[in-house]
Amino acid sequence: MSNKVYNIKEIADVIGATSIQLVDPAAVINTLAYDSRKITNSRQALFFALVGRRDGHQFLQEAYRSGVRNFVVHAEAFEIADCPHSNWLVVPNTLHALQLLAAYHRRQFDYPVIAITGSNGKTIVKEWLYQLLSPEYEIVRSPKSYNSQLGVPLSLWQMDAQHNLAIIEAGISKVGEMEAIEVMVKPTLGVLTNIGHAHDDGFASIQEKTREKLRLFSVADMVVYNPTYVDATIAVPGRQHFTWTIGEGATLSVDAHWQAKAQRYVLEANVEGQAQRLTVPFTDRASIENLICCWAVMLVMGYEMPVIMSRLQTLLPISMRLELKKGINNCSIIDDSYSNDLSSLLIALDFLKQQRQHPHRTVILSDLPIAAQDTRALYVKIATMLEGKGIDRLVGVGEHLRQQAALFQMDAQFFDTTEELLAHLPQLGIQNSTVLIKGSRVFGFERVSRALTLQTHETTLEINLNALEHNLNTYKTLLKPGTKLMVMVKAFSYGSGSFEIANLLQFNKVDYLTVAYVDEGIALRKSGITLPIVVMSPGPETFEQLIAYQLEPEIYSFAELEAFMSSLSPAGPAPYPIHIKVDTGMHRLGFEPDDLSELLTKLKSSDKIIVKSVFSHLAASGSPEHDAFTLEQIGLFDSFTKNLASGLGYHFVRHIANTSAISRFPQAQFDMVRLGIGLYGVSADDYRALPLQSVARLRTGITQIKRIKEGDTVGYNRKGRLNGEGTIATVKIGYADGYSRRFGNGVGKMRIKGHLVPTVGDICMDMCMLDVTGIDVAVGEEVLVMGDELSPEYLAKAIGTIPYEILTGISQRVRRIYYYE
Ligand SMILES: *Cc1c(COP(=O)(O)O)cnc(C)c1O
Repeated sequence: MSNKVYNIKEIADVIGATSIQLVDPAAVINTLAYDSRKITNSRQALFFALVGRRDGHQFLQEAYRSGVRNFVVHAEAFEIADCPHSNWLVVPNTLHALQLLAAYHRRQFDYPVIAITGSNGKTIVKEWLYQLLSPEYEIVRSPKSYNSQLGVPLSLWQMDAQHNLAIIEAGISKVGEMEAIEVMVKPTLGVLTNIGHAHDDGFASIQEKTREKLRLFSVADMVVYNPTYVDATIAVPGRQHFTWTIGEGATLSVDAHWQAKAQRYVLEANVEGQAQRLTVPFTDRASIENLICCWAVMLVMGYEMPVIMSRLQTLLPISMRLELKKGINNCSIIDDSYSNDLSSLLIALDFLKQQRQHPHRTVILSDLPIAAQDTRALYVKIATMLEGKGIDRLVGVGEHLRQQAALFQMDAQFFDTTEELLAHLPQLGIQNSTVLIKGSRVFGFERVSRALTLQTHETTLEINLNALEHNLNTYKTLLKPGTKLMVMVKAFSYGSGSFEIANLLQFNKVDYLTVAYVDEGIALRKSGITLPIVVMSPGPETFEQLIAYQLEPEIYSFAELEAFMSSLSPAGPAPYPIHIKVDTGMHRLGFEPDDLSELLTKLKSSDKIIVKSVFSHLAASGSPEHDAFTLEQIGLFDSFTKNLASGLGYHFVRHIANTSAISRFPQAQFDMVRLGIGLYGVSADDYRALPLQSVARLRTGITQIKRIKEGDTVGYNRKGRLNGEGTIATVKIGYADGYSRRFGNGVGKMRIKGHLVPTVGDICMDMCMLDVTGIDVAVGEEVLVMGDELSPEYLAKAIGTIPYEILTGISQRVRRIYYYE
């Protein structure tokens, strides 16, 4: 939402609409929309039908039903018949049109715009600059890491006359992308964080990548960069330059020493003849670079050294994550306690709205940082947003919220301070609710989060929901138009979660979910999942429950078919959907191809059931040496299902492809595919390198560190030995957590502070020991067990198993955290 409004005709001009149909030429726009699931302020919204992984034109009617009456569409998709009384602008390219509008909007303001790009650290530097400069400026900044071809225009759209500084983040992944961003942003001050190996694939060389990133600063008055990342052959654009570095040779050259004892860095520099010294509690070099980068920007902006020093001292590590965790009193906690502003609040509310596992939705909200004269208008917006997102309870903290209490129609309580809230928290009786915790930094809401989160085992499996969505979309792009998608969420979604994953899949409109057993299906239904759910192995003793929860059985034998038919009441309202499994060569479950005529007779004998789908499972779809067999299975399935369909006289959905078959056998997609392990970031074959992202990270911590003398042994049965003397670290993960005993005695490796270190001795039930000789580590240090280079595939290979077993083996006592970045 922007406070500035534009007339629809003015917009038509700006975006170069080639055809215009206006029923309401006086319409004004202040909101950009592109996702029909997240419409706010629909009457003043302009919906851009973007074509990406999904074609926004398919969602025009949904947007229309949400109240949108203004649309921008592609020329060839111009279809207005079903959306009467609305305005239509037709353009050759909707994303480009959105960018033109953002560029136009940005030109309405002549205050400074800082643009940040680089391989890493962009978001941190943006957030830190926001924190450092806020005392003097009213800052508008990119929400989260909205830095793409779409994220940048949405960020710029937030600019309005109340602000006097913008901080915009820009990211690119291939050559040619920066130009469109530069045209929109036209920064006055450019900041390059660093250049690393992220997105190397999109560029011929690191120089090409650097040059492309620097294009953002073509017209900047000043560019701040670290010459270490920009080699001498590259001409840095911008009228003036300010350089910084760790070491020598820049305008701001900083000496950085790591003090191991105190676990902190000491930074020293000479600025305009004066020695400066700063100690900071960061343990990694990347944070130090980001901090020096902010220091340079403050110098460029004319800040005095004493102010710079005292503010840098206050910087804290930042988490841009929005985390979903288990809370106390049967709550789910969405922790977004780092920042609070309208745009990030809206993102968090959308995520809250996706959660259906509890009957109530509560928001614990602090005051937003804002100049006093705008308070009321701001809280009117917030009250409207909360109502629009179906929030039933508000707990407000801060003076402004308390003053505006009358605006909030839902059940609401207000406190002046976080301390006051914490003191009353138990009496509030927050239960059976999804709770969003959203507070400005100064309110210290991490304390509220700690009080409401269930504290368990320190070993944590972190599930990256962005990555999961990315993988889902990656597989969607492989599907032929109209092919349905079933997602396998059996075994706790391959170890990653239950309703947390199903919610996301439901939100992303997959067609079916599949579980192994009835209780898994019931758990999903109880969490508000309304998608059709197939149960693969429903025992006759569970049919009653299955029917009560509207789960759909897989039927694989005559005995099961008969048992199921007799458990259906004779006068059911409609035939019950079932799914027939055929065995085409896996020889696990399913009817034999020879059973066809008997099966037909049985199925036709009853009108209590209807065949919703018929499917089979491939035994070796990921193994090229068995491709002939796989093709035979596919052929057999094709003819069996054709005969069954003609015998039954009605259509059903046919499916046989699992993850590997989706990528390796496009001809086997039939009407639907069944996505499993690929969703979780593991491609089960290496035939086709899909750009999957890893979803799960398993991490733990060090409990104790011990010096070992030459000849000492470590652990049970004295199996562990070092070469000579050394140091071992005991960490909090064992075979009861799913870290197999087969990882013992050096077979398994974990990562500590960037070093891969081997296990020593046998893995114990709740712990194991690592050889950390020569590495500077402390108790409490984080240990990565799985994630990055320690992929599920890598771990599986080490102990001679498959990634499926690694993922599903992670025990339920390991705490799960779900996050969006
Ligand atoms: C588990 C399962 C799948 C998914 O297999 P992936 O290899 O993980 O894609 C598909 N179909 C059936 C019947 C399954 O049991």
